[in-house]
Amino acid sequence: MNTHDFNFYHGHDPRELVKTFGSPLYVYNERILRERCAEMVGFSSYPKFVVNYAVKTNSNLSLLKIIREEGLHTDISSEGEAVAAMAAGFLPKEMLFTLNGVGAAELEFAAKIGATISVDSLSQLETLGKVAAGGRIFLRFNSGVGGGHHEKVITGGDGTKFGIMPQYIPQVKELLAKYDLKLIGINHHIGSQNPGEAYLAGVRALLELARQFDDLEYIDFGGGFATPYHKQSGEKPLDLRAIGAAADELFFDFAKSYGKELTYVIEPGRYVVAESAVLLGTVHSIKNCGSQKYAGTDLGFSVFKRPTVYDAHHDIEIYRGGARPLHLTETAPPERINIVGNQCETGDYIARDRDLPPLREGDILGVTDAGAYGYSMACRYNHRARPAEVLITIAGDAKLIRRRDTYEEMLENMQGL
Ligand SMILES: *Cc1c(COP(=O)(O)O)cnc(C)c1O
Repeated sequence: MNTHDFNFYHGHDPRELVKTFGSPLYVYNERILRERCAEMVGFSSYPKFVVNYAVKTNSNLSLLKIIREEGLHTDISSEGEAVAAMAAGFLPKEMLFTLNGVGAAELEFAAKIGATISVDSLSQLETLGKVAAGGRIFLRFNSGVGGGHHEKVITGGDGTKFGIMPQYIPQVKELLAKYDLKLIGINHHIGSQNPGEAYLAGVRALLELARQFDDLEYIDFGGGFATPYHKQSGEKPLDLRAIGAAADELFFDFAKSYGKELTYVIEPGRYVVAESAVLLGTVHSIKNCGSQKYAGTDLGFSVFKRPTVYDAHHDIEIYRGGARPLHLTETAPPERINIVGNQCETGDYIARDRDLPPLREGDILGVTDAGAYGYSMACRYNHRARPAEVLITIAGDAKLIRRRDTYEEMLENMQGL
């Protein structure tokens, strides 16, 4: 987003934030986060409607607390995420584990704390039956619909590893009976950043599947609501209202004919947090290599992986003074440049072939819409410390919500010297 239009920094100068908290730096805006939560909670007018936030998207405890205050529950994909969610105050009954290819220990953990588990294969159903016979469970189906911004994030349809194919429903029913498991819900998740039509096609497909089970309490349509990442070239936000209304029509109709009281569930991640953050970094070098021009920055893929892993596009802002980013047309004619990180991989880039005002050493860059799958995918490759995270509160304070790693703690858990 254009951070100026949204008063993202609440008057703080991004250059000063970097001076105070170090570069690179994740900066979050509380107001935007709360607004996105509220939009998700308002997605459906169905009386029993639950929004499970996908904790893997961003698990900073301060953000999780805000998300909980806004009334969301959680979608959990590992034991560690459950530990984080509980530390932020979520109760096990506010968690749906959507696990994929995990061992008995993780299933047992989820059952023991009293969370609900969604099982996504016959073999996992058998494993769960052995450790938690008699439980109430969800099944994740592959309803045949997929959609997403990159082949690596399409999680439904042929050729993905997720969900149980509907052809196995007879075996599913046998296993449920064998272990006395009660099927209370079904879910699917078709992919990340899917367009609204794919979401609705998914709703239709999952409701069709739901008819094969007569005692469901929950139907969960997954997440994947798209965030517009190309705002500088005019990309508009998803028409959430229209998608919500169309989905409501399908769900209300179904619920009436199903004859049991159902709870309608969704599992957004990206939509909730993506726009609430800008990742700040510093330009340290400018060079030409062959036909290409490069700006070398401290924004390596250990800090932000999405461009490297998914060829993701993020709009870039440039700050040279004051909270206002440089206008893209403000200075000399734009120059085509690649913005790269400081790591020893050719795939280490933040932006390719961008037309930007000529960059200078010392410029602070803002990678916009960086709140989803940003810090949560950061790592310590090259023994670089993961950055700090700062929250611009509603009151306008810049509050440190995670400090930068220290090199000492990065050595701490090594043993046997
Ligand atoms: C990742 C994930 C989500 C959230 O996806 P977004 O694209 O971030 O909305 C929802 N459900 C499941 C099962 C997931 O794995």
